[in-house]
Amino acid sequence: MNTSPAMSPFPISQNVTRMQSSATLAAMQAAQALRAAGKEVFDFGAGEPDFDTPDNIKRAAGEAMTCGKTKYTATGGTSEFHQALIEFYRSTFNIEYKPAEVMGTSGGKQAIFNAVVTLLDPGDEVLIPKPYWVTFPEIVVFAGGKPVYIETEETDFVLTAEQVERAITPRTKLIILNSPSNPSGRVLPPDEFRRIVELASEHGLYVISDECYLRFVYPPAEVFSAATLAPELRSQLCIAGSFSKTYAMTGWRMGYALGPVDWIRAMLKVQGHSTSNPNSIAQSAAVEALRGPQESVGTMLAEYTRRRGWLLDALKEIPGVKCFQPEGAFYAFPDVRGCLKNGIKTSAEFSQRLIEEEHTVVTDGAGFGAEGYVRISYATSMAQLQEGIARIKRFAEKHS
Ligand code: PMP
Repeated sequence: MNTSPAMSPFPISQNVTRMQSSATLAAMQAAQALRAAGKEVFDFGAGEPDFDTPDNIKRAAGEAMTCGKTKYTATGGTSEFHQALIEFYRSTFNIEYKPAEVMGTSGGKQAIFNAVVTLLDPGDEVLIPKPYWVTFPEIVVFAGGKPVYIETEETDFVLTAEQVERAITPRTKLIILNSPSNPSGRVLPPDEFRRIVELASEHGLYVISDECYLRFVYPPAEVFSAATLAPELRSQLCIAGSFSKTYAMTGWRMGYALGPVDWIRAMLKVQGHSTSNPNSIAQSAAVEALRGPQESVGTMLAEYTRRRGWLLDALKEIPGVKCFQPEGAFYAFPDVRGCLKNGIKTSAEFSQRLIEEEHTVVTDGAGFGAEGYVRISYATSMAQLQEGIARIKRFAEKHS
């Protein structure tokens, strides 16, 4: 007999009830179940580099531990980290940031979280172009804001200033930009980027520029950081950066924010009462990442370039699949609506059946606000890519 007292359900706060769990979870769980059953899985779901953190960065972390850099640091990180970041932006983009305009965070995600929660009041509208990284709307909703999505399919997912202009209302407070984009791999052309920020500035809107894939841009597309915009355009703009992708450091949890002094000060207040400071050892590693040799970034970019070329050619051979050429990040975002037949009605069903029948994992685009599309991460070995894409082809042929 069960004698334990009846438990009432845990009273989850409204802030958290409003949030959705990660849309990519279902695919991950299905893949895990297959692996547990001893099956080989071809996994294009992961949003992280398949490379290891470069040795010089690991060594710097080891030295930091040995010489006792194991204590709390200042909330926004050490002054050594600030200086390294400032030097990096000076030498790369010829931009002069002051220490009060920069802060370290526990991953780029915390920079975005800090920036959103310090700005929004309940009911504030936030423009989020589709397809979007899943975390953007959830942080907005957590902060009591209202995501307002901008459709961009008519321009092949390249956001335009006109699209932004149409979406602005008197309640709009913020726009979140992400170039290169997760999930589409799209890169905003610099002129369009500038026009969008000018428009935001005319309307008194704030801008968050998530630049976590900044260094993975494929020519002829141009690397463009909002840091290079004129100071008056940057006065309402916060850049969220990350070490996760650029230096294959996803597990280290190191990112940063660059923004106007008042915004950064508010963000430090939130961080000071939540995570306190980014990991002290990861900060030393990040200093080495910024100041040390950058060859590893070039090596990764060259390998992603090779895989991207191969993948785009291979996708062309799959019936029912259409894919534009992504200019950045390490994702392809094909339209699979031509494969939605024979009882497969949605991209979620497409992804689910692909796991079941071919043990191949792609991420359903619906979670990113783009039903009918799937995201394929090519941050995985060429051998995996070749076998997995052959399986997707077989699957598409079987169902077409
Ligand atoms: N922005 C985008 C678009 C991302 O894809 C990610 C990671 N998947 C992040 C930010 C955050 O990365 P991190 O917190 O690891 O720096």
